[in-house]
Amino acid sequence: MKQTGLIIVLSGFSGAGKGTIMKHLLQNHPGEFNLSISATTRKKRQGEVDGRDYFFKTREEFDSMIENGDLLEYATFNNNSYGTPKSYVEKLVNEGKDVLLEIEIQGALQVKKIFPEAVLLFVMPPSADALKERLVGRGTETEDVVAERLAISNKEAEFMPQYDYLIVNDILENAVEQVYSIISSEHSRTARNVENIEKIKQDLKKFERS
Ligand code: 5GP
Repeated sequence: MKQTGLIIVLSGFSGAGKGTIMKHLLQNHPGEFNLSISATTRKKRQGEVDGRDYFFKTREEFDSMIENGDLLEYATFNNNSYGTPKSYVEKLVNEGKDVLLEIEIQGALQVKKIFPEAVLLFVMPPSADALKERLVGRGTETEDVVAERLAISNKEAEFMPQYDYLIVNDILENAVEQVYSIISSEHSRTARNVENIEKIKQDLKKFERS
């Protein structure tokens, strides 16, 4: 059966576990999804690899990507710029393949404007206290950074209703499979299967009695 490629956007509060969900989704279902790699002006963190985690760019390089129309969307988060390279997403969609974008809210809403059929998922922890605990528990952020991230989450919560699905990340593997089942269900939508419907209609004609 012919498949239509989906653009699946995952956003969520910092510390909600969206990166881990993505990683497990790709591990549990190898070869089924392609992850878009973003460009960013943020400094590389320890353990990150250029071209795997992000395409790390200078401000000048990032600005020229914008000027050349190379980015599908871009946004500023915590004083750094982040953007989705357009060509990779377009190529996959044209090939009928699914592409996953792990991006923040402003970018996600831009994607939805360009591709209204994109599926937007928002990941949240089971509670605000759990979010704070996770941010503190990471041990990588100072108290100020934790407070700043929580303040950002507070503002971001305003946009949650604009997403198509809400994922509560309490038990990680449940959240991963919830994301997987949403994607499967989205593929089954009749509106995404117009060609398949037309084909079975045509094929059934051969049984028509004259
Ligand atoms: P971090 O610096 O922690 O890797 O990411 C900070 C935020 O930027 C996260 O919410 C992440 O999802 C978001 N982000 C990563 N890549 C992109 C992108 O290409 N576009 C947008 N709009 N946000 C992104």
